[in-house]
Amino acid sequence: MALQGLGVRQGTFVATLAWNTSRHMEAWYGIMGCGAICHTLNLRLAVKDLVYIANDARDEVVLADATMVPLLERVLPGVPSVKHVVLLTDRLNMPPTGGLPPGVGVHCYEELLGAAAAAGGGASLANFRWTQVDENDACGMCYTSGTTGNPKGVLYSHRSNYLHAMLLVQADSLPLAASSCCLAVVPMFHANVWGLVFAAPLVGARLVLPGPYLDGASIHSLMEGYGVTMSAGVPTVWLALLNHCEEAGATFSTLKMVAIGGAAAPLSMIEAFEVKHGVEVRHLWGMTELSPLGTLGDPKPASLGGRTRPPGGFGAAAPASGSASGSGSGSSSSSDAAFRRAYLGAKLKQGRPHALCDMRIVDDGGRELPHDGKSVGHLQVRGPATVARYFKAPQPATDGAGWFATGDVASIDAWGNMAITDRSKDVIKSGGEWISSIEIENLAMGYPGVAEAAVVGVPDERWGERPLLVLVARPGVEADAELREGVLAFLAERLAKFAVPDDVVFVPQIPHNATGKVSKLTLRDMFKHHKSG
Ligand code: ADP
Repeated sequence: MALQGLGVRQGTFVATLAWNTSRHMEAWYGIMGCGAICHTLNLRLAVKDLVYIANDARDEVVLADATMVPLLERVLPGVPSVKHVVLLTDRLNMPPTGGLPPGVGVHCYEELLGAAAAAGGGASLANFRWTQVDENDACGMCYTSGTTGNPKGVLYSHRSNYLHAMLLVQADSLPLAASSCCLAVVPMFHANVWGLVFAAPLVGARLVLPGPYLDGASIHSLMEGYGVTMSAGVPTVWLALLNHCEEAGATFSTLKMVAIGGAAAPLSMIEAFEVKHGVEVRHLWGMTELSPLGTLGDPKPASLGGRTRPPGGFGAAAPASGSASGSGSGSSSSSDAAFRRAYLGAKLKQGRPHALCDMRIVDDGGRELPHDGKSVGHLQVRGPATVARYFKAPQPATDGAGWFATGDVASIDAWGNMAITDRSKDVIKSGGEWISSIEIENLAMGYPGVAEAAVVGVPDERWGERPLLVLVARPGVEADAELREGVLAFLAERLAKFAVPDDVVFVPQIPHNATGKVSKLTLRDMFKHHKSG
């Protein structure tokens, strides 16, 4: 009712610019419940991108955190369609807003709700007449990052969100039930918050929303303070959490599972959670265009000799193959150790497609490739929660048979497990061979003293492109020739000769994009003139 009072009608684009908070979540339901379209703006984007996106969507109202006023002061002058700003706070915490463009109405969220409730005879859902909408109507919109051109809008319908939420609460998906407590680390502005704000209420799970506090210490204290049982986010966040645990000697008393997606989870991370902390890892692959989940990494027991993860986890154990990090001495039998290695190796794959996602790989000519775990091709998907057409696009996003080209390069094994080797634009082509940057990064992250690793192709006269390994050393570890030679020797033992990087460069930090993923574009630019040797 409060939104309707601002002129919001069915099909109006209402933007949000906010961290994960209860007001933000409540606003999502309010916007979608009155038939409007909730457009999440990524608050980490550059001003020019926010201006482009908000204009493209013709957002009319923006609901924003009070801390976003300085950003709005820079964005809104370029977005004349915005008529109202609602600050997600109470009167006491309203910031000065004199710098916002004149003509834009500024409102306090709690006051607006209070006034609408009073006018409607009390704050009760029973008083609200939910707008009748078609299940295929759009209710949400998120833009892709636009690394290859302008960002593209992806609309979500009530139907696709509902179906996606149903599959998220299946037993093999995320363990969401009335007894779970889920920390939504993934921001609400990233890829439909992976469906969590729809799936958790569907089963009555408790949802913890961290606001802007996404550093390792804060995440750990939220997990312990609220008895969090599961959480979901990108690898960068888990790296910060694991580093915090390492430094502070912290453990988890209630956490049972972490879902890692958005970028490849390295073996060292999977091993740290599974073996050192006894926390199960669910590796996820998805895209904004898929609502966003596509696959879930839960290997079939038959693919692991009929064995499953021990109910209590692995406990302290010997290191997995391929990792030099080690995590305790371990006393289990060799068959247990072999199973653990196989299990952790299987978890490196991005997993099997869920029930709403058909999946295949094709060669450059569009011919389907076998699911033999070896053939590598362009990954395509189709299903009812996959984008049919980008916002305002004249052409469908899929081919005549409904297949959507993901832009990822992958293999699929006989069990249906998909493994991403790269994004097609990140694949390194060296002397006719394709080199997987993800595989090299995975291995390098398992070397002692390495905090973070990224691999990009740099131009090479002879081979066309060669892989360059960019490393951040752990605090207290010297980024010197010894570390460089050590990592390269470690990789040489585990990779085909042509895939071993020619050189290593150390950087204080690796650049990340607005969704917290390694920005390969920036790295390629930084090192485009790099000469190995
Ligand atoms: P953005 O383009 O902003 O990164 P998305 O979050 O939609 O938008 O990114 C989707 C892409 O992220 C996928 O196409 C894939 O390249 C990558 N990705 C997602 N999950 C994984 C994963 N588990 N392993 C490797 N890559 C992943």
